[in-house]
Amino acid sequence: MTKDEKQKLRKIAELGCSLCRHQGNEGTPCEIHHIRRSGVRSSSPVIGLCPYHHRGSNTSIHGMGRKRFEREYAITEEQLLVQTKNLLNAST
Ligand SMILES: [Zn+2]
Ligand SMILES: [Zn+2]
Repeated sequence: MTKDEKQKLRKIAELGCSLCRHQGNEGTPCEIHHIRRSGVRSSSPVIGLCPYHHRGSNTSIHGMGRKRFEREYAITEEQLLVQTKNLLNAST
Protein backbone atom coordinates (compact mmCIF):
# COMPACT_ATOMS: atom_id res chain seq x y z
CA MET A 1 0.00 0.00 0.00
CA THR A 2 1.35 3.43 -0.94
CA LYS A 3 1.58 6.41 1.39
CA ASP A 4 -1.22 8.15 -0.51
CA GLU A 5 -3.52 5.16 -0.17
CA LYS A 6 -2.83 4.97 3.55
CA GLN A 7 -3.59 8.64 3.97
CA LYS A 8 -6.83 8.27 2.01
CA LEU A 9 -7.92 5.38 4.24
CA ARG A 10 -7.15 7.45 7.31
CA LYS A 11 -9.27 10.33 5.99
CA ILE A 12 -12.18 8.03 5.23
CA ALA A 13 -11.92 6.60 8.75
CA GLU A 14 -11.93 10.13 10.17
CA LEU A 15 -15.20 10.92 8.38
CA GLY A 16 -16.91 8.24 10.44
CA CYS A 17 -19.73 5.91 9.42
CA SER A 18 -21.15 6.96 6.04
CA LEU A 19 -24.58 5.54 6.82
CA CYS A 20 -24.82 7.15 10.27
CA ARG A 21 -23.87 10.43 8.59
CA HIS A 22 -26.62 9.87 6.03
CA GLN A 23 -29.02 9.42 8.95
CA GLY A 24 -27.85 12.65 10.54
CA ASN A 25 -25.29 11.37 13.05
CA GLU A 26 -21.87 12.64 12.07
CA GLY A 27 -18.57 11.19 13.16
CA THR A 28 -19.57 7.74 14.42
CA PRO A 29 -16.32 5.76 14.80
CA CYS A 30 -16.09 3.42 11.84
CA GLU A 31 -14.38 0.51 10.22
CA ILE A 32 -13.27 0.39 6.60
CA HIS A 33 -15.65 -1.45 4.29
CA HIS A 34 -14.45 -2.54 0.85
CA ILE A 35 -17.01 -2.35 -1.91
CA ARG A 36 -16.83 -5.43 -4.08
CA ARG A 37 -17.58 -4.89 -7.72
CA SER A 38 -17.77 -7.87 -9.99
CA GLY A 39 -15.06 -8.05 -12.58
CA VAL A 40 -12.84 -5.41 -11.02
CA ARG A 41 -9.67 -6.87 -9.64
CA SER A 42 -7.77 -3.71 -8.88
CA SER A 43 -8.14 -1.92 -5.56
CA SER A 44 -11.77 -1.82 -4.48
CA PRO A 45 -13.25 1.48 -3.31
CA VAL A 46 -13.84 1.86 0.42
CA ILE A 47 -16.35 3.58 2.70
CA GLY A 48 -16.54 3.91 6.47
CA LEU A 49 -19.17 1.91 8.36
CA CYS A 50 -19.56 1.64 12.13
CA PRO A 51 -19.52 -1.90 13.63
CA TYR A 52 -23.33 -1.78 13.91
CA HIS A 53 -23.79 -0.99 10.21
CA HIS A 54 -20.79 -3.03 9.10
CA ARG A 55 -21.23 -6.41 10.77
CA GLY A 56 -24.24 -6.34 13.11
CA SER A 57 -26.33 -9.44 12.47
CA ASN A 58 -29.54 -7.72 11.34
CA THR A 59 -28.38 -4.17 10.87
CA SER A 60 -25.36 -4.33 8.62
CA ILE A 61 -24.13 -4.79 5.10
CA HIS A 62 -22.42 -8.09 5.95
CA GLY A 63 -25.14 -9.28 8.32
CA MET A 64 -28.02 -8.70 5.92
CA GLY A 65 -26.29 -8.75 2.59
CA ARG A 66 -26.04 -5.82 0.22
CA LYS A 67 -29.51 -6.09 -1.33
CA ARG A 68 -31.38 -6.12 1.99
CA PHE A 69 -29.12 -3.45 3.42
CA GLU A 70 -29.85 -1.14 0.51
CA ARG A 71 -33.58 -1.74 0.75
CA GLU A 72 -33.61 -1.33 4.53
CA TYR A 73 -31.79 2.00 4.54
CA ALA A 74 -33.03 3.23 1.15
CA ILE A 75 -29.53 4.05 -0.01
CA THR A 76 -27.05 2.07 -2.06
CA GLU A 77 -23.44 1.27 -1.32
CA GLU A 78 -22.50 3.24 -4.44
CA GLN A 79 -24.40 6.31 -3.19
CA LEU A 80 -22.57 6.12 0.12
CA LEU A 81 -19.33 5.96 -1.86
CA VAL A 82 -20.27 9.09 -3.84
CA GLN A 83 -21.07 10.95 -0.61
CA THR A 84 -17.76 9.83 0.89
CA LYS A 85 -15.87 11.03 -2.18
CA ASN A 86 -17.62 14.39 -2.11
CA LEU A 87 -16.68 14.85 1.54
CA LEU A 88 -13.06 13.95 0.82
CA ASN A 89 -12.92 16.49 -1.98
CA ALA A 90 -14.54 19.15 0.17
CA SER A 91 -12.00 18.69 2.93
CA THR A 92 -8.89 19.07 0.75
ZN1 LIG B 1 -23.29 3.55 11.28
ZN1 LIG C 1 -17.06 -4.75 4.96
